[in-house]
Amino acid sequence: MTGRVNDTASAHRNRAAELGLRMTSTGSCPRRLVRLPHRPGQCWCETRLNDHGRRYRTVGNDTPVVMWEPYPADGQDVARVVVLAEADGLLVTITGASPWNPGETFALIFEAAR
Ligand SMILES: [Zn+2]
Repeated sequence: MTGRVNDTASAHRNRAAELGLRMTSTGSCPRRLVRLPHRPGQCWCETRLNDHGRRYRTVGNDTPVVMWEPYPADGQDVARVVVLAEADGLLVTITGASPWNPGETFALIFEAAR
């Protein structure tokens, strides 16, 4: 059982690495990227979209990012997160290149706006 979980985690980590993302922690609150605190119970990161959330650094330029990898989601939920993230000084990229469950999950990638 444990081996299977570890295999899944390892495969996820390896697929992320193939996309140029080095996993650094299981922290999933994007607000940390702009030195804002996570607000338990009222944080916009506490959403169904925050599935398989992890923190990474990009291999190319070592930029810290947070990636969430939900299964298909309501567009209004996505829009709400994007608006709140941008209000906190974050940029959001949405891509189909999701390493969690390729072809089934999609990725929301947060990084600090420059
Ligand atoms: Zn949070």
